[in-house]
Amino acid sequence: MSKANPSSKQLACRKCKFVVSGDEKKCPVCGSTDLSDEWSGLVIIMDTKSSLAEVIGAKREGRYAIRVR
Ligand SMILES: [Zn+2]
Repeated sequence: MSKANPSSKQLACRKCKFVVSGDEKKCPVCGSTDLSDEWSGLVIIMDTKSSLAEVIGAKREGRYAIRVR
């Protein structure tokens, strides 16, 4: 096993809660650069027309944090 890659850290957007990999500089969904490494809970949105996506306000498929600090 190779050593864990530091860039594999995940960041969550404070605006839309979209989760991106640690080497992203801005959120691909809303364009915000306000990314946080302090977040918890993870929801995977497979269908933006689902009721869960509506609750979260997900505009594209992907992973979203439940809570972002
Ligand atoms: Zn965002």
